[in-house]
Amino acid sequence: MKYADMDAEALRATEQRVEQHLAALRGRNFQIDMTRGKPSAEQLDLTAEMMTIVGPDDCHGLDGTDYRNYGLGTGIPEAKALFAAYLEVPPDAVIVGGNSSLNLMYDALAGAVLYGVPGGDGPWRARAGLKFLCPVPGYDRHFLVCERLGLTMIPIEMTDEGPDMDHVEALVAEDAAIKGIWCVPKYSNPTGITYSDRVVDRLAAMKTAAADFRIMWDNAYAVHHLGDQRPVLRNIFEACAAKGTADRPLMFASTSKISYAGAGLAVMAASPANIRDAAAKMAVATIGPDKINQLRHVLFFRDMAGVHAHMDRHRALLAPKFAALDGALEGRLGGKGLAEWTKPEGGYFVSVDVLDGCATEAVRLAGEAGLALVPAGATFPYGRDPRDRNIRLAPTMLSLAEIDRAMDIFCISVERACVAKLRASEG
Ligand code: PLP
Repeated sequence: MKYADMDAEALRATEQRVEQHLAALRGRNFQIDMTRGKPSAEQLDLTAEMMTIVGPDDCHGLDGTDYRNYGLGTGIPEAKALFAAYLEVPPDAVIVGGNSSLNLMYDALAGAVLYGVPGGDGPWRARAGLKFLCPVPGYDRHFLVCERLGLTMIPIEMTDEGPDMDHVEALVAEDAAIKGIWCVPKYSNPTGITYSDRVVDRLAAMKTAAADFRIMWDNAYAVHHLGDQRPVLRNIFEACAAKGTADRPLMFASTSKISYAGAGLAVMAASPANIRDAAAKMAVATIGPDKINQLRHVLFFRDMAGVHAHMDRHRALLAPKFAALDGALEGRLGGKGLAEWTKPEGGYFVSVDVLDGCATEAVRLAGEAGLALVPAGATFPYGRDPRDRNIRLAPTMLSLAEIDRAMDIFCISVERACVAKLRASEG
């Protein structure tokens, strides 16, 4: 039964039952952490061979370059070839950097603020009031980058095809202070959606008042499938080149959820002008990346067939966790009219929308009962979800038994928060 259809007495009885259940859970001193999308130890074990794949006699490139030494600031050619195939761009469009794509994204925007980017009229910091578009719900660390760099964030609604392009086009056409947009185009964090061809084409073709507008194309989950549906993401690099906006996209990815989240590889791809600009900026900050780690990855994965085969092994570990989470939500909250949630075909998250005004309280109650969740609002710029309804769930680190326990706590916390709201609105 939908809780909104209950009479006052039924709601009161439900509140009592839910409160008793929560009190019992509180007494069990659980400590479950569902805050971040981290790979589990079993996933990290899949790459164990990588630890020893490069030996002391085997750390040279195909042309004999000694990868233990300085140099090759934009990455080793073997790694560039692998990631060119990964991102479907030419090898000379690729920079293989450190271990964190977030770091590359931060540096790209910090570099724009400090020094400017190709096609612009100097450092962004020379002009006050610059803005960035942020599809919501989105990735909290993207929003932190903007906040730290003083770029005012404008939320854009996500549709099931990607950001609301009517809104995006209208804003960027008029306002030269809008310098870019964040996009997680495949298996988006947290909604799991993949941008449609139409959205990609519109992003490539739209008129922007800012000549140096940038699309931060964070393809963090390009090969992270969970289901049999494998949506094909249109190639933004080619779409922009075809529309005369080749300098617009800055593409990013990493192996954080392929090899190691702490010791993987990060990559950026972009037009020749952008790559020259990024390489020149990077050359001041570093004399070169960890080429041994790049070699290790190339020797382990070899090519895209190797990457896909490896991701099938990740999928075998992860798909049952997402199925368990979905089953628990369905079993415990289904039909009650208190929450809606995504059923992602890939990526690392499930996005839950509870009744308006209930997310903060649900997260607080879950925390009291021993389930740590990312703070409500984190999926919105400045941590402010105007409807206070979105909660991001990250099941990958947990065992199936922990997911079951976590969902017991989560669902009862959602029920408790929503019932209180319904009772209050009854007066
Ligand atoms: N981008 C997105 C959309 C993410 O969800 C994450 C991690 O959760 C990252 C980037 C972080 O990537 P990296 O480990 O390469 O810095």
